[in-house]
Amino acid sequence: MAAATAILAGVLAFSPASGDAAMDIARGFVRDCPRRDAGTPGGHSAARWIFSKANRLGCDAQIDRFTGETPDGVKRFANVRVELPSPDPSAPWIILSSHFDTKAGLPAQFTGANDGASSTALLLELAHLLRRAGRSKEFSIEIAWFDGEECAGARYAANDGLHGSRHEAARFKKLGRKVAAMLNFDMIGDRDLSISVPLNSTESLRKTVLAAAEKEGLSATVSLSSEIVRDDHESFLLAGFPAADLIDFEFGSAPGLNDWWHTVHDNIDNVSAESLAKAGRLAIAILRELGYKR
Ligand SMILES: [Zn+2]
Repeated sequence: MAAATAILAGVLAFSPASGDAAMDIARGFVRDCPRRDAGTPGGHSAARWIFSKANRLGCDAQIDRFTGETPDGVKRFANVRVELPSPDPSAPWIILSSHFDTKAGLPAQFTGANDGASSTALLLELAHLLRRAGRSKEFSIEIAWFDGEECAGARYAANDGLHGSRHEAARFKKLGRKVAAMLNFDMIGDRDLSISVPLNSTESLRKTVLAAAEKEGLSATVSLSSEIVRDDHESFLLAGFPAADLIDFEFGSAPGLNDWWHTVHDNIDNVSAESLAKAGRLAIAILRELGYKR
């Protein structure tokens, strides 16, 4: 029995119970940190919340505070990360990421439950499972929660939006780290889940995501899109790293519509444990497709 238990403890899987756990985390995050606009006290307390939660889940988290120019002047940002380095120092990195900030200037009922909280919660549960599975010989893994993804204006610019990912891509570059894949998750808690991988993602990774979805029986939920989506993966692409975005950009009142995005309808009632479980299964299937062995 001891041997069987040891093997089971090392096997990475995202069960329906993991989906429920991620849903509980999302609920708690939205309750405690309903507004997380970058550069505000709410944003900084959200970073501390993620840091504490990750530590309680047995992960050794770090907060990385930095400043950046924005259209409203210099702002202070805070990324959170958990690093799970491989025992092999030459192993390349896989980065699993999400933003946690909320879009500023929206009505109080908007809590970014899907846009920000759902992927934040998914990655907390994944960090917990990956840490428990043990270090991987094949890859070093980083789980990253980015601040400042949302732009203040209507459009992204060099000084507006994607602040956290730009900072982290520069850090990876400075450290000379080799990156096998950066996989960014956004809006994946949508009750009616339909994940797509936008065109501006590394082509080989788009194929990897699709193959992983097929093996995991999620072909009906995952597709490749011909659209360009501005999101945190772009910062890594610009830094020369392979990167892909996994986003459900059809968050709305009917299939195909995105009319709930950045509205009061983005609340916890429109997020589900089942969708979080699907996204979690997909994340692990992608890791395996890339060569992760546990
Ligand atoms: Zn958003």
